Amino acid sequence: MPVAFASDISPLSEWIPLSGNRLYIAGPCSVESREQLAETAEGVAQAGNVPVLRAGVWKPRSRPGQFEGKGAEAFPWLKQIRKDTGLRIAVEVARPDHAIQCLEHEVDIIWLGARTTVNPFMVQEIADAISGTGIPVMIKNPVSPDLRLWIGAIERILMAGSKKIIAIHRGFKTHKRSVYRNIPLWDIPLELRHEVPGLPLICDPSHISGNTALLEEVAGQALTLSMDGLMLEVHHQPEKALTDREQQITPETMHALFARLSAIPHRQKSAETLDDLRRHIDENDHELLALLAHRMGLSRQIGQLKKLRNEKIVQPHRLKALFSDRRQKGEILGLYPGFLDKFLQLLHDESVRIQSESTSDQPESESTDSKRNTLPGSVFIPGEDKNQQP
Ligand code: PEP
Ligand code: MN
Repeated sequence: MPVAFASDISPLSEWIPLSGNRLYIAGPCSVESREQLAETAEGVAQAGNVPVLRAGVWKPRSRPGQFEGKGAEAFPWLKQIRKDTGLRIAVEVARPDHAIQCLEHEVDIIWLGARTTVNPFMVQEIADAISGTGIPVMIKNPVSPDLRLWIGAIERILMAGSKKIIAIHRGFKTHKRSVYRNIPLWDIPLELRHEVPGLPLICDPSHISGNTALLEEVAGQALTLSMDGLMLEVHHQPEKALTDREQQITPETMHALFARLSAIPHRQKSAETLDDLRRHIDENDHELLALLAHRMGLSRQIGQLKKLRNEKIVQPHRLKALFSDRRQKGEILGLYPGFLDKFLQLLHDESVRIQSESTSDQPESESTDSKRNTLPGSVFIPGEDKNQQP
């Protein structure tokens, strides 16, 4: 389904200053005090290539009893910083009343955090609150790796009339153990860019890494994948930060990092699309191989069980049900039936071969004879021949 209002999206260069075609955003995870904000913002502004200061006014915390931001008290400080440094101010909104306060206090850009994008009702309420104002909105990916939710949030904001939008990739929480705080799953932002081609897409390496050691690697990877910029968490004294202490860097470290990253060349859009698709194909095939290896491991275990229980390798009822299920599901997924039949046949033959290795009751020629195991119309129909033992 095409993404609603995608053609309305404003190119980044039309509304915000870029540095070498990239947008750099930096600032503290949360606003903690007037002094902390001022010190950090001045350091950020000195870089000269960061036009936007990020600053968490309300902090969504996983557990109660932790610092949840200064709230509305921070707005006069932010206004002053904007005046003193010329930096545009970006604030996270998690509820419609946050959005309304940001509008009242002339915040330049708002963003939806990962815990908000995940909730379509809340996104819609925020979209309604800003409807018609045109305020620029950045939309982080949802916490869970669900591209539809991300696209849905983008659509809701676009439909509210905000054309200046930016998607932010900040990684995903999954059940897998990882060196990252949030696993990047690069395929997902790349798929987003494929589905919404004109959408500016930047990366938040701070929340992906969760520490400073991985920051440069993740930021570099994002730019190598032709993302349009970065959002970094920067604090004048990271070791004293009240939130996300491990992942914040000083403004000085940020300058040096941006200088090194600017050496990463830009790639042509056309080349980028082909490279991205090839990357998808490579990752996809690697997953497919891992799945196939896992499946054959299961076949081997089944073969050993059958041997213990003295059962035939090929069991017609099971095979018939399996083929019919896989054909049906494959066709729902849009796979060409002729391809599906050949693939299932190959899979079956290999499975029988592996099980034959675990048992000695069946000669290989019998179980892997593709002619005898072939369904009508080139498709294997298990159970047609009562002598064969699928
Ligand atoms: C943040 O940017 O400080 C933040 C809370 O991020 P996320 O929504 O990505 O967790
Ligand atoms: Mn943070």
